[in-house]
Amino acid sequence: MSNPSLLILAGDGIGPEVMGEVKRIINWFGEKRDLVIDVSEDLVGGAAYDAHGVPLHDDTMAKAQEADAVLLGAVGGPAYDDLDFSVKPERGLLRLRKEMDLFANLRPAQCFDALSDFSSLKTELVSGLDIMIVRELTSGVYFGEPRGIFEEGNERVGINTQRYTESEIERGARAAFELAMKRDKRLCSMEKANVMESGILWREVVTRVAADYPEVELSHMYADNGAMQLVRAPKQFDVIYTDNLFGDILSDCAAMLTGSLGMLPSASLGAPMENGRPKAMYEPVHGSAPDISGQGKANPCACVLSFAMALRYSFNEGTEADRLEAAVEKVLADGVRTGDLMQAGDSKPVSTSEMGDAILAALDASL
Ligand code: NAD
Repeated sequence: MSNPSLLILAGDGIGPEVMGEVKRIINWFGEKRDLVIDVSEDLVGGAAYDAHGVPLHDDTMAKAQEADAVLLGAVGGPAYDDLDFSVKPERGLLRLRKEMDLFANLRPAQCFDALSDFSSLKTELVSGLDIMIVRELTSGVYFGEPRGIFEEGNERVGINTQRYTESEIERGARAAFELAMKRDKRLCSMEKANVMESGILWREVVTRVAADYPEVELSHMYADNGAMQLVRAPKQFDVIYTDNLFGDILSDCAAMLTGSLGMLPSASLGAPMENGRPKAMYEPVHGSAPDISGQGKANPCACVLSFAMALRYSFNEGTEADRLEAAVEKVLADGVRTGDLMQAGDSKPVSTSEMGDAILAALDASL
């Protein structure tokens, strides 16, 4: 079988810095685990705008469609803030998500024991936390028509439309059930069926799909209650499946249970390709962090953990993904900290590349 292929789009700001550490880790897997990945690289965001006048060149889009997975760093920065909306760096990211039809956004909220003090919640509420939020990413109120700002009588009205087809709800639900099967086999679906017809349909479709996954325990919750439960007793959840808007908010809420932005990975998955692998893009949740870029201060863990998700979900290398996640966990347990993870009393922070060194040393120690 041919090697899996990965298109790296490092992007702007700290994107190339954190990606530099991931590239060292990819090489480590090639050399030490015989897991050779064919890596290619291209531009996205402001970097692509500088080179081509667009935030994503058509050739790059075509490469993304062909790769087994895409790993993206971050896009954006003050230099591009005044660009026309159509060529803003974020448009490159949105184009990738849209044209690859990445409908299931996976946002893990996992609390590393060594960082449980970072949560705004009490340690006992978050220690050992391991939730996966699956957010529908390509439909719902962010895309529904009609939309716009219209004149109505003597005032204006802003309109957005929440719209979901059964098939859109179903494909995301299947992705969520499949994930639940690989985890603790519990799925909580969140909507507002009490006040929204789209929520009633959502609940019906998810319930119907559940018949194909009899081992998974399905529950339903109104999304507002879901938000309360996430901060009251987050460990009650395993996988949460919810729509684009609620998912946007709930996944950020869940993320903050775990501490720093520099630790949060994500995956966006689409339909299976001919080789059976899902279309997929992996990216840290954080942005390009212009306030620290170019200074060697960025925490590479979110990008490293995004690559671990690629190992698990695109390359079927779950054991190696576990190895990499355990290496990050060990480094944190040993007290290695980039600036964003420092607390009163901690000694000097390590640099981006020193964090990479520590993860590589932990990987070596795992052999
Ligand atoms: P940000 O995530 O870039 O930064 C927020 C804060 O977190 C900053 O103080 C930053 O220094 C810190 N931070 C973020 N990642 C870090 C890391 N890995 N290590 C250490 N500290 C880290 O969000 P922002 O400041 O609101 O946005 C900056 C730029 O990034 C904007 O142009 C925005 O549009 C863009 N952005 C891009 C993405 C993306 O590429 N997916 C996501 C969010 C924001």
